[in-house]
Formats: sequence, structure tokens, C-alpha cells
Amino acid sequence: MKQRLRRALDAIADAVSGLQVRRFRCRHNGAVTVLDIDNTLADAWPSFLAGHRSERERLRDLELLPGMKVAAYDGRDRVLFLSHRSWWYWWLTRRWLRENGFDGTLVLVSTPGHKLGHLRRLVDGGGQVVYWDDLSHGTERGRTELYVELIDAVGALDLTYHGIDEIEAVVAAAGGRRSGSGRGSLS
Ligand SMILES: [Mg+2]
Repeated sequence: MKQRLRRALDAIADAVSGLQVRRFRCRHNGAVTVLDIDNTLADAWPSFLAGHRSERERLRDLELLPGMKVAAYDGRDRVLFLSHRSWWYWWLTRRWLRENGFDGTLVLVSTPGHKLGHLRRLVDGGGQVVYWDDLSHGTERGRTELYVELIDAVGALDLTYHGIDEIEAVVAAAGGRRSGSGRGSLS
């Protein structure tokens, strides 16, 4: 029942998220920043190995990735957070952002691929778009895999993309993860 409710919520959310992004673009017609959350702002993958009583608890307790707030957020005032998470966690995610000093529009999508349409909307709306997103998965299983097709499609858009290598460089320059975890092999 809970799963069905979540799927229904995500389907509705995917439909309305386009309106969210259009509204964001109408309000901000200049340069904007788009930020992923998991493994971009938040040190997400080690949390899968840490053991939590619930997904809510895992998400609530995520730590910031060292250096990333300064590198990608500080000084920007038109920020859209674009994350592959269930809308079931929209309020929790917004609270996490606020508690960690972030302000902006929060858009959640049910698949990573849904991000592309939103990025196109922002680019087509005019004005510079700067986008930070690791676009990877699986590191907690020992092998980091990239969403290669999605990265290629993002690369074809007229925006400035900062991906996993730049994120890892920022984290390393800031002294590395607090957990001391390193990224798995990249495929
Ligand atoms: Mg991510």
C-alpha cells in the first residue's frame, strides 16, 4: 500500500515538477545554479554502509561533502536543487537543506533521466546555467558507475557542467570525507 502510494505520488510529482521548473525560470531569467544533492552536496554513498533504522533516518543524518557548499552554492542566489529522490521525502529533504544553510527551489524526480527535461527547460529559458551533479551510482557496492548517456546528453546542452571528477577534486582539496571513505573504481 505504502509503495503504491509512493509511486502515485511520484507520478503526480513528475508531472508538476515541470511547472516548478518553469516557474523558477520565469522568476529568474539570468544566471542560475542547479545542484544535485546525493553525492554532490551530501556524502550519501557511505551512508548505505553505515546501517540505519530507516531510509528517513539515513537521509536525515547525511553529512555535507567537505568543500562542496563553498564551491557550488555560496554566493549564488538563484539556486534550484534537482535530486533523484522520492517525493515522499520532499519535506525531509527541504529540512535537511535548510538545516545545512541552503535556500532555493527543491525539485525531486523519480528517475535520473527526468533531470534532462528540466535542464532543457532552464537552458531554453535563456541565461547561463551552471550544473553540479555526480550523475553516478553504485559506489556503495564497490564500483562507481556513471549515467553515461545522461552525461553525454547534458554535455550537448548549452550549460556549464561540473561532474564527479570535479566534485571529488573539491572534496580532496577540502581534506576528504569525514568518514575517510574513498570512491570505488570507476566504470
Ligand atoms: Mg547524485
